[in-house]
Amino acid sequence: MSFPACDARRSEAALEDLWEIAARKKLSSADAPGLIYVFRDEELWKAGRTNNVKRRIREWERDCPAFDREWIGWRWTPYANRTEYLVHLALERICVGRPRFQCNCGRVHVEKFDFGGASTSGELILSVIEMVIDFVLSKY
Ligand SMILES: [Zn+2]
Repeated sequence: MSFPACDARRSEAALEDLWEIAARKKLSSADAPGLIYVFRDEELWKAGRTNNVKRRIREWERDCPAFDREWIGWRWTPYANRTEYLVHLALERICVGRPRFQCNCGRVHVEKFDFGGASTSGELILSVIEMVIDFVLSKY
């Protein structure tokens, strides 16, 4: 993995505004139940949405092979689209960086978060996801 050409992390104020706007907006009629998953590639963490974890794991292994990818877990939510969006905002707020980099798979990734090595854990990321799920359920 070649490391960051630049940091795509947005400012605290911008992220707070985006959260407020998203939290006030009605759910899209396209929103649907699904799973929010999280994995770690070396120092970088990725959270995403799927309705089939096994298939999504195969897709990641095929499209972006990584030697020591660790799948941390996943949580179900009835509103996977809004939840994924808010999870990304929440993780971006607490991360130390969101590198934009050319990956070995040929793509430019911007959707992975750096939490500064050992200072974070899968448990912490999963608890952020659980808090966002609860937040969304309390609103809708
Ligand atoms: Zn990749």
